[in-house]
Amino acid sequence: LSNYISRTLVFSAGIFSVGCSSSNLDEPLVIFGDIAVPTGLQNADPCTARGCLWPKNNGRVVVPYRISDQYCKSRYMETFLFIELSANFSATCVSFRPQSRERDFLDIQSRDGCYSFVGRRGGGQIVSLSRQGCVFHQIVQHEVLHALGFDHEQTRSDRDQHVRILLENVIPGMEHNFRKINTRNLDTPYDYNSVMHYGRFAFSRDREPTIVPIPDENVAIGRATEMSANDILRVNRLYTCSMYLVSFRFFFFPFL
Ligand SMILES: [Zn+2]
Repeated sequence: LSNYISRTLVFSAGIFSVGCSSSNLDEPLVIFGDIAVPTGLQNADPCTARGCLWPKNNGRVVVPYRISDQYCKSRYMETFLFIELSANFSATCVSFRPQSRERDFLDIQSRDGCYSFVGRRGGGQIVSLSRQGCVFHQIVQHEVLHALGFDHEQTRSDRDQHVRILLENVIPGMEHNFRKINTRNLDTPYDYNSVMHYGRFAFSRDREPTIVPIPDENVAIGRATEMSANDILRVNRLYTCSMYLVSFRFFFFPFL
């Protein structure tokens, strides 16, 4: 456990000391990403029942990735992203490795903002992690979870029992971000601390809340700094990582 924690903390703190010269300083600062699917139709997306999961071999899911030259080609940056991709997934059967000849892979680029497609799309699929605001622990994990097949928490099929969406406070034209999806919830509870949960003021047009938890309006939502225990459990359930469910339990609840 201590090894796991120190690794993620060290790398999250170290990002600010990376000596990158940037040619795109006017890229917008994006705090949280969205989904790179224009229709907005996208816990696990229905596509995961139709083939958008990543394949499993010998009980392990290895997701290939390629990291763009846009990031400083320092070994540090590559190491950083690699650790980000790997860290919390060590409690699952999903891991990541640089793409070699695989046809399907995550094409990690510094584009305009933080975003990802939901699930495996076939071929190289862009995961945008802007250098100017997306290379943070929770954001990397958030976008990677999209790529593994997960939707935002507040779009879950049962969300109306846990949050109230105030569409009247949403920036006009952005309402689709709050559309409910017929998700597969994998027998896991709705989780305000999921790294996939938006904050209270997401897409607010007037600094009024857009997502209010119920029944207790004062519960903190959307503050995750890394994958929650439920996020990890869902990866294990979605990818049927049976052997890891045991270690997961030991990892988080060693007293049980
Ligand atoms: Zn997102």
